[in-house]
Amino acid sequence: MTRRLTITTTLSLAAMVAAASLGIGQEGPKVGYKDTPMLPGGKWHVHDGDRPQPPIITPGTASTQDEPGRAPSDAVALFDGRDLSHWHDGKGGPAKWKIGEGGMVVAPGTGSIVSKDEFGDCQLHLEWASPTPPKGKDQGRGNSGLMFFGRYEMQILDNYDNITYPDGQAGAVYGQVPPLVNASRKPGEWQTYDVMFTAPRFKADGALESPAYVTTLINGVLVQNHTQLLGPMAFRALPQYTKHGPKGPILLQDHSNPTRFRNIWVREIKNIEQP
Ligand code: MG
Repeated sequence: MTRRLTITTTLSLAAMVAAASLGIGQEGPKVGYKDTPMLPGGKWHVHDGDRPQPPIITPGTASTQDEPGRAPSDAVALFDGRDLSHWHDGKGGPAKWKIGEGGMVVAPGTGSIVSKDEFGDCQLHLEWASPTPPKGKDQGRGNSGLMFFGRYEMQILDNYDNITYPDGQAGAVYGQVPPLVNASRKPGEWQTYDVMFTAPRFKADGALESPAYVTTLINGVLVQNHTQLLGPMAFRALPQYTKHGPKGPILLQDHSNPTRFRNIWVREIKNIEQP
């Protein structure tokens, strides 16, 4: 049975509350337009009020040098400063990096660490601090890395007053695309790394359907702008894509330098109209 309620200006507040409790009119106010042109795809009108509403989340807070900020409410926290429970050593054993110095520290020689959670398209935030006092030079100074699917490396390096080849700088798609600028802070200072990663897609026969893309901010500054990846990380070689599934782990690289990390979180990128 369909019940209709005509709300007039004479309807009392009490009656409105009662109507709400009966579930009448709870579809919410009508918004938008239906007499407008159709958008490409033929599903929605321009300003269509029936499109799904974006989910409401609570945004995070910014970090300071003294305190890490809070992650957005819909993020998966991979490291909140307490323990390495979201990571393993790449062989399924416990991650062996050290907790301390305001975060976690690469324990050189113990190997890269790999997230237990897997992600496809995602937004990732991490903060890192290069070893201080700085040791070494070129690629030997504060080298680590952030690898999506354990293979697509976004370089982490101490590039403050340290020259190296451009496609090996902090913020580079390693071996492929240098960062737009060098926005490095001094060794010992916390720096932010924010990446929007679009995973590659593969056809059933293993051929590449669409490549990976990254947009990256370092310390709030754009360093990669929808950059297309040629393939996974390769050293002194041209990369080549090999087929993998829709999700993969995040890897943080042990490159023999005691780089520190804190406040690591990931948000899956979901299209609200194509769940
Ligand atoms: Mg590296």
